[in-house]
This record gives sequence, structure tokens and C-alpha cells, in this order.
Amino acid sequence: MKYLDEFSNPDLARRLVEEIHAVTTRPWAMMEVCGGQTHSIIRHGIDQLLPDGVEMIHGPGCPVCVTPLEIIDKALAIAEKPGVIFCSFGDMLRVPGSSKDLFSIKSAGGDVRVVYSPLDALKLARDNPDRQVVFFGIGFETTAPANAMTVYQAKKQGIKNFSLLVSHVLVPPAMAAIMDSPKCRVQAFLAAGHVCCVMGTSEYPAIVDKYQVPVVITGFEPLDILEGIRRTVIQLESGRAELENAYTRAVPAEGNLPAMEMLRDVFEVTDRTWRGIGEIPLSGWKLSSRYADYDAETRFSVTDIHTAESALCRSGEVLQGLIKPHECAAFGKECTPRNPLGATMVSSEGACAAYFTYRRLELMEPEPAGASR
Ligand code: SF4
Repeated sequence: MKYLDEFSNPDLARRLVEEIHAVTTRPWAMMEVCGGQTHSIIRHGIDQLLPDGVEMIHGPGCPVCVTPLEIIDKALAIAEKPGVIFCSFGDMLRVPGSSKDLFSIKSAGGDVRVVYSPLDALKLARDNPDRQVVFFGIGFETTAPANAMTVYQAKKQGIKNFSLLVSHVLVPPAMAAIMDSPKCRVQAFLAAGHVCCVMGTSEYPAIVDKYQVPVVITGFEPLDILEGIRRTVIQLESGRAELENAYTRAVPAEGNLPAMEMLRDVFEVTDRTWRGIGEIPLSGWKLSSRYADYDAETRFSVTDIHTAESALCRSGEVLQGLIKPHECAAFGKECTPRNPLGATMVSSEGACAAYFTYRRLELMEPEPAGASR
């Protein structure tokens, strides 16, 4: 398949791995920011091909994983209200809130629907003027433009029974927060190519300069990631800290200007809580005052719901790269994709789910014969 097969070529991958080995003289720890990159790294065993001591730390770039429990509880509270059609992408339906998930509300008779675009939810609102239709708008800079466009269209078309439950987060402030942590082990970043497709590259020089870390923008195919690692190791070995764009086939430096203009119109920057990490100043978007009428939190009076995270799950440490998923005692035992305790196991992009899918047989002790769960 064009743009996929040629970026999985095993001969080229072998050559890149050899080049990484040739330039590496000592241990380095770099973070791939995006969950899609984590999934690709674990799926293809890329981390196992690297020189000893070159470590991939799996970052917080999975939108489902970082959506706070509190927002999920707000979604559940709204979805349970009579007359509401609650719309979401499918991956949020199994994310556990503090006592249930959207699937359980659906099975109890709630009108929870999976849609493939926020515009599908807007159409539902247009077709059901006597119902309230809510779309669960989560994710990074990648999903935000479509949600912004939907709210813009709702206002333009005078559709008043539509609202957005907003939990959008921004990648560069999270990278800065990771670097500010006293426990930080990150020496370089592979930045998320799809975020940069929308936002361009202009936010990264400040991070490079302030923290003196290389930032290399990469894609998601094996060769993209290996090339990103190769460039990163070369910078680290030579003592340089620069921004490099290794994903030029998709990322223009200026980003997607119409999308950015839409985002600036519909959203404004706000403090956001990231699941497992906590509040990061100016790390998310909320609806701007021009579109405040479309805010589901205020429309359904759920702003006062506050929920503490579970003490058992260590996904916060996973998201900050402080432990690997299998170092959590619940990994593969109490916590599996069928019965997830934390968001990093629910989403297929989550680091715990990636380790469970591709590594559990080699990472977990076999159970004694006759043992049952
Ligand atoms: S394995 Fe499960 S309980 Fe442990 S950190 Fe991952 S999601 Fe949380």
C-alpha cells in the first residue's frame, strides 16, 4: 500500500538499525510522545533492536489514556440523563469511570451511540430536534479541528440542541511538564507527526532551547521511527539539541493554517488535568466565550463532579515513563484489555495494552499448572 509498504521495508530497516548501532557509544533515554508510535515500536519490536542502553520511554500521547476520570464521570452523568443522545468514538465506551462505563449505561437503556465523526452527531441533532445531542470531544491537536468545525457549524446552522463535552489537551505543554519533573529521565523526544501536521513546528524551538533536548518529529511506520531514533542518537552523541523534521512528507513547518484558524476561533487555551499526571497549566482547550452556549458541562450542570483517580493503577507512572507496564503488579492479572483497571489498558494505543498484546508471553511468569483466575 502506497506510503505504508515502503516505510516497512525490512532491508532499509536493517540498515537504519545498523546505523543506530554504529553511532551509539553510551546509554540514552528518549521518549516517543505519541501512543501510535508506542504501539508501532512494541508491535514491530523496534525497542528490542536498539543498542543496549538506548531506551524508549513511552509518553503520554494516547488521548483515551490521558482523559481524566473526572471527565469520564461527567460523560456518564450526562449520558444517563433522559432525552440525551450521547455520541462518542468507540474507544471511549469501555473506559471505566469510577463505577461504570458508557457501555453499561447503553446496556441499561441509555442512548449512547458510536459515531465516526462529530459531524454525524450534529446530523443526529438536526434530525432529532426534541432531543439533546452531546459529542464527547477528547484528544490532542489532531482531533480538535473537526470538533471545532462541528461547533462552528452548529452555531452557523442555528442547531441549539447540540453540545460538546470538551477534554482537549495539547502536546507541547505536556512535554515541558515532563521535563520539569524532578524524576524526569527523558534526554530527547520523538515528537508526534500527526500533531505537527495540524500545528506545524513553531512550538518546539522553545522546548529545545529551554531544556536543551533534541526534538525530532517522526511518523508512525517502522522506518519513520527508526529514522527518528537515528537522528536523535546522532544529536545526543554530538551534544547538539535541535529541532528536526523527519516527517516532511506530511508535516509542513507552518502546519494546517485553516485548521489552526478554526481552532483559534472556537477554542481558547486553559489549564487541563491529565489522567495520571495531574494538572498542567495551559495544556488544553475549552470552548471560547463565543461558543460557550455549546458547552455540555454547563448545559447539563456537571461542572461540580470531582473524582479522585484509583490508587491501585500505576498508569500515571507509565505515562511519565517512570515504569514499564509490566512493572505494575496488576499487569495481565487483575488488569487486562477485557477487564482494564486503567486507561492505558483500555485504549489500543495505551502502553499497557500494547505490552499486553505483543509482550505478555515473554514478560509474565507462566502460571502454575492448575491455577485459575
Ligand atoms: S497494567 Fe493496568 S493497573 Fe497497571 S498501570 Fe497499566 S492500566 Fe494501570
